[in-house]
Amino acid sequence: ARADGQGVFRMFEADMDRKVRERRALEKDLRSALANGELFLHYQPQANVSGQIVGFEALVRWSHKERGMIPPAEFIPLAEESGLIVPIGEWVLREACREAASWPNTIHIAVNLSPVQFRQGDLPGMVHSILLQSALDPTRLELEITESVLFDDLSRASSILRRLKSLGVKIALDDFGTGYSSLSYLQSFPFDKIKIDKSFVWMLQQNPQSAAIIRAIVGLGRDLSMYIVAEGVETFDQLSFLTEEGCSALQGYLIGRPYPIELYAKEVGKRAPP
Ligand code: C2E
Ligand code: CA
Ligand code: CA
Ligand code: CA
Repeated sequence: ARADGQGVFRMFEADMDRKVRERRALEKDLRSALANGELFLHYQPQANVSGQIVGFEALVRWSHKERGMIPPAEFIPLAEESGLIVPIGEWVLREACREAASWPNTIHIAVNLSPVQFRQGDLPGMVHSILLQSALDPTRLELEITESVLFDDLSRASSILRRLKSLGVKIALDDFGTGYSSLSYLQSFPFDKIKIDKSFVWMLQQNPQSAAIIRAIVGLGRDLSMYIVAEGVETFDQLSFLTEEGCSALQGYLIGRPYPIELYAKEVGKRAPP
């Protein structure tokens, strides 16, 4: 690098170029990933306070042909910026509903929806036709949304949510407590479930405030007749605190990691892998 700093700037520019090129390449690969069968689903169990599995959350995975597994934290934002989340989200929902239709009818399936799916296309129409195709009882489908959906355009979002609810599906508010004005959003729509974000669960040990926050969320849920699910449960200490406080369900590595459904063969009445 030259002493006047120009060289440093050029290096910075080259680095930016490389990052932009890498992003474009990854986006191009993501475009064909669906067609190439590189996307698949993992299923993470949710248990009630007695330890029985009551549902699974579908989580998308991408096995890139050269780069191996790419985490959702990396490719979901890319899919959202490019609009690819619309066909990908539709595929996830179809795949998850088809799979869940073969399980005992006491076990529900939770599927994540991106805010972009609320902005583009006909979301309730898409969900309706997948429910018909899969013959899944709509009450067994739980759609997980985040506050950012409501933040975009509250009246449009709540009208879409009402149409979704009229199909008979359940709506869960994901990552609760991490957004800006969580409490006011609870007024705007009758959610069936609130998922306490894992960051609060993970802070339980070190931070007494997070215990108070969880207690308040559980109390709120009780008063508003919403189920409370805690995510990110990794230890028995967390488990016992959360069940004592009155959470209705638990999700986390302690209950089970996200895996191919065959690994939960016993729970969903499938044949176990050889
Ligand atoms: P999320 O919806 O909050 O999903 C929970 C994430 O927490 C998952 O990460 C899960 O593997 C992880 N997790 C659950 N329990 C534990 C635990 O005890 N310990 C730890 N360390 N992690 C735990 P994952 O699968 O990497 O997904 C990350 C995010 O990507 C999801 O967060 C969701 O926002 C998004 N995502 C995943 N699949 C889809 C999808 O099909 N559609 C959309 N729109 N987004 C998805
Ligand atoms: Ca989720
Ligand atoms: Ca979450
Ligand atoms: Ca999340």
